[in-house]
Amino acid sequence: MNKISIIVPCYNEEEVLIHFYQETHAAVSAIAGTSYEFLFIDDGSRDHTLDILKLLCYQDPNCRYFSFSRNFGKEAAMYAGLKHACGDYCVIMDADLQHPPKLLAPMYHALSQEGYDCCAGKRMGREGDGVMRSFLSRSFYSVIQKLTHMNMNDGDGDFRMMNRTMVDAILQIQEYNRYTKGIFSFVGFETKWLEFENVERAAGKTKWNLKSLFSYAFDGILSFSTAPLKLSGILGGILFLIACLLSFSGFTQQFFFHHSVSSLTLVMIVVIFLSSLQMMMVFILGEYLSKDYLENKKRPIYIIREQN
Ligand code: UDP
Ligand code: MG
Repeated sequence: MNKISIIVPCYNEEEVLIHFYQETHAAVSAIAGTSYEFLFIDDGSRDHTLDILKLLCYQDPNCRYFSFSRNFGKEAAMYAGLKHACGDYCVIMDADLQHPPKLLAPMYHALSQEGYDCCAGKRMGREGDGVMRSFLSRSFYSVIQKLTHMNMNDGDGDFRMMNRTMVDAILQIQEYNRYTKGIFSFVGFETKWLEFENVERAAGKTKWNLKSLFSYAFDGILSFSTAPLKLSGILGGILFLIACLLSFSGFTQQFFFHHSVSSLTLVMIVVIFLSSLQMMMVFILGEYLSKDYLENKKRPIYIIREQN
């Protein structure tokens, strides 16, 4: 009998957890010839999420919970879930029912009968997300595709069922700054895509705001691309050319037309422009260095405070 591990990162999900468990439990129990386990990762929730998880685990021995000592983020929660899962197949699901449990059966079929290593949900549409967020997300994915040459599209989420081989491959990647969408793409494997309609979360609020989305996008680019470092070279080259042209034109004006060249304003603009560019470049370099610095520290990706 195959075991399916359902990994659920939870951060302040008290309003929706019971509903999620009931629906998902019904869906997974209906898959013939399988057993299941739920791994709930409480990512430092400040509401009653942990109490509800304890209750669920008390009622259903197939449920386990892991509670982080603080909010480490969804990436760390997914890693913890995968690491502790003992199923033959692992599926990552959001707690807010935006990942439809009815897809569990076709996902399992794709892995157990059709020979795929992974079956992933592809979200169609962005109903429930703001216009600004949809636009930024789409732009981000087109940029990251070009910069990393990896297969990451808007709509390809973390909702996916994977076999043990793929899970073990993901667990081999132990970096601290985890960008799981990139890691899925990096490890490869045969993936079947199942489309599903985007729905609003069943209850509660999204944990993302514009600032965290920007930082997530920036992390994704820095984790998988060194293109921003090349940018400084390109801009440096262009600036060098501009400097050459300006010197050449100054030289010709001075010697052939006897015009005086420089004005204070022009110098000021050039100086400000150059220093702002320098600052941007130093910022990008600093970001890379800080990532490397953290990586070299080999900090734990999460710390469990308690578990059942
Ligand atoms: N989540 C988490 N840690 C966080 C933020 C979110 O474990 O720091 C969980 C959250 O409880 C949910 C999933 O990640 O199960 C997706 O979060 P959310 O629904 O807020 O994201 P969205 O669907 O808006 O992208
Ligand atoms: Mg959600």
